[in-house]
Order: sequence, then C-alpha cells, then structure tokens
Amino acid sequence: MKEAARQARADNHLIGLVPTMGALHEGHLSLVRRAKQECSRVYASIFVNPKQFSPNEDFAKYPRAFESDSAKFAELGIDALFAPPPEEIYPTGFSTYVNVEGISDRFEGRSRPGHFRGVATVVLKLFEIIQPDFAYFGRKDAQQVAVIQRMVRDLNLSVQIVVCPIVREPDGLALSSRNAYLNPEERRAATVLHRALEAARAELIRGTRDSLQVQNTMRAVFEKEPLARLDYAEVVAADNFDPAVRVSRASYILVAAYLGKTRLIDNMLVEPVNTDSSELQFHL
Ligand code: AMP
Repeated sequence: MKEAARQARADNHLIGLVPTMGALHEGHLSLVRRAKQECSRVYASIFVNPKQFSPNEDFAKYPRAFESDSAKFAELGIDALFAPPPEEIYPTGFSTYVNVEGISDRFEGRSRPGHFRGVATVVLKLFEIIQPDFAYFGRKDAQQVAVIQRMVRDLNLSVQIVVCPIVREPDGLALSSRNAYLNPEERRAATVLHRALEAARAELIRGTRDSLQVQNTMRAVFEKEPLARLDYAEVVAADNFDPAVRVSRASYILVAAYLGKTRLIDNMLVEPVNTDSSELQFHL
C-alpha cells in the first residue's frame, strides 16, 4: 500500500482515502463517490480495528462481508483496497498511541472508554501509510470527526479532512453497519433517534434556544418508545464538543440510544444562517 501510494504521489496524483470497517452501505459508498469527484486516486480501507472496541463490545461479532464489500468498491472504481490483517497494523510489542485529550473523554468517549484512542491511533497509521491529500469521513460520527480534526491540527498533519452528510433510510434511520443487529421490532423503534432530532428541530424553529428545553423535548420522544433506552441527548458546540447552554452558534444535537443490545448514534448540525442572524439552518 505504501509503495502504491508513493508511486501515485510521484505521478502527481491527488490522493483520497476512505477509511471504513467494512459491512458497506450507502453511507460508505457516498464517501467514495465524493472522493472520486475530487481526487485522481481513491483508496479505501477496511479494517475492523480491535483497539477501538472495549472488552464488552461487539468486536468478534462485528459484521464482516469482505467479498461483497470489495465488489461494491470495485464497482465504484476505487484504485486500491487496503485491508490489512490486524497483526500487520499491531505487530507484537505495539505500544504507541494517540490520545486526543478532553474531547475523547466525553459522550461517545465516556460511554466507550478507550474508543477514541483506538480511532485516533489507527487513523494516524492509515494517514502515515497512504499520506492522502484528502480523507473522507461521515458526519454520522460527528465526535469522531472532531477528534480527527483536532489530531490533524495538533500534529500538523498535511491531510485535509472532508466531512460528508449523513445518509439515511427513507424513514429517517441513519445507515449503520450495526443496524443489521436489529430485529424487526427494534428496527421499527430505531427511528426514535431521528424522531427525537426532528422534535429538537421543531423546538428550535419555534424559537427555543435553551439547551435543557431541547434535551427535555428529545427525552419526551424517548419516553414514548419503550423498546429504546436513551444513553444521552445533548447539545454541544460543533468545534470542541463543549456542552452548550444555549444554541447560539454552530452546534450539534447529539443522541445515543440502545435498541435491545444494539447501541446507535445520530446527530443534527445546527448553525446560524449567517454571522449576524439568529435564524438557524439544520443539517439532519
Ligand atoms: P465505519 O465503517 O462505521 O467505521 O464508517 C466508515 C465511515 O463511514 C465513517 O467516516 C463514518 O462516519 C461513515 N458513515 C457511516 N455511516 C454513515 C452514514 N449513514 N452516512 C454517512 N457516512 C457514514
């Protein structure tokens, strides 16, 4: 992979990287399509990264579909698929980690200790191996994007992070490889995350700016959905994920919930239409 990427750089190609854990869906493929528009060489990776799963999580049973994944990537015309075995990424004695302090400890980081250390470490390794000009990530994992953007800034990395919109099912459920775990009842109930975000949007359109009120509105949606257990519903500043008391600048409305044993996340980006306006626009 290093040699192919080095050659592409020597030939003056613009290199785009799409990192994934496989079990591909339209969300992943949207990143590849965007990369294909902007780069002359597009590389994708599939690596189910053991270091970003905590011991009680689903690493062993995380869905794996290598054959159909590589067919989907090939159909979109990627230039190479990087799918290393774990021992190549983590050789015996591996002992160096990237810890993006502060932001890694909140929300997803609090619910999943060590998760963002694993993410930042493997993403830096992918950036070093391939040295892409652009790397494509989904806004579905908004906190992951913020962690990676902070790492890129703090470590003076040359890659540019491109954040792509959330791809959803027709009923609003954000696409996720973990949706495959849901039984039919849980699948129906799983729209509660999107419904809570829609309720938050309605509240904000009514003029509410108080975060607690927005959170309570979301909680009320969950209270009517017995199959779902809310983990958190929060309003944070979009850049640093600090909790926001009011929605006055670019903010994420975050939600995480369990449907049975399956943990799902979703979010909505809210930002002022322009700098001197109190009118908001919504990216759901
Ligand atoms: P994963 O395979 O879950 O690690 O995801 C790989 C990339 O696809 C990450 O950048 C995700 O944010 C992105 N992604 C996952 N689901 C979606 C979605 N529904 N819409 C857009 N991007 C997504």
